[in-house]
Amino acid sequence: KSFIRVNNLKKEYKMGDVVVEALKGASFEIEEGEFVVILGPSGSGKSTLLNLIGGMDSPSEGSIMLSHKNVTKLSEKKLTSYRRDEVGFVFQFYNLMANLTAKENVELATEICKNPLPINDVMKSVNLLDRIDHFPSQMSGGEQQRVAIARAVAKNPKLLLCDEPTGALDFNTGISILSLLSDVNKKYNKTVMVITHNSGIAKMANRVIKMRSGIIIDNYINDKPVSPE
Ligand code: ADP
Ligand code: ADP
Repeated sequence: KSFIRVNNLKKEYKMGDVVVEALKGASFEIEEGEFVVILGPSGSGKSTLLNLIGGMDSPSEGSIMLSHKNVTKLSEKKLTSYRRDEVGFVFQFYNLMANLTAKENVELATEICKNPLPINDVMKSVNLLDRIDHFPSQMSGGEQQRVAIARAVAKNPKLLLCDEPTGALDFNTGISILSLLSDVNKKYNKTVMVITHNSGIAKMANRVIKMRSGIIIDNYINDKPVSPE
């Protein structure tokens, strides 16, 4: 049975009289441990899809099953623990606390969650042991993003959701962040979903989902199209 099952997922945003159909019925399945890249131009619905899977917003229609959980049917209270314990988020602009060191940023995230990983091990895995006492302003963009990845991984969720994690970085630093996420995927057996509009980066994934105007136009596993059921 699949780890994630997304079925006929739709999302409309209403702004006064204007309705934006950000997702028009997305369906796919992901196995545990996959490294998934979501590709598509700006406005194609990538963030909407990731936010729905992460329980940050609710769909207009359709369902998301994660393991045995129907994410779209969780109460507010269960959603809060779902976001805290079961998914890790990585954002384009790192979202680190400026007044905390690298290590403190990671500690803060793990304090309230159920079964965190040892922080020093995670800092070592992201190659930041020599930066643990640095503040965000003392680190490069690539290093700040590695802290953000450590923060997400240390919570020990099964799923990492990364929204344009390389969007604020130069190409080579972006590649190193993607390769770090690939290491995390293998070493900790985390399922990783990464949004990017950079098709060069998609080469590192075993799964590529392509979106256009709120629709999934391609779904490939190791360069072979997934056949619709
Ligand atoms: P992507 O991540 O591929 O750039 P998004 O999911 O952010 O795409 O956006 C998909 C569409 O939904 C766009 O047309 C965008 O303007 C619209 N949209 C996204 N979020 C909101 C929102 N909170 N309110 C209204 N419209 C939104
Ligand atoms: P990365 O490959 O992670 O982007 P860089 O090559 O940009 O790293 O930076 C090399 C080193 O210079 C980093 O280890 C960092 O300590 C330092 N550095 C880079 N950018 C900044 C910055 N904006 N402020 C302070 N230190 C920085």
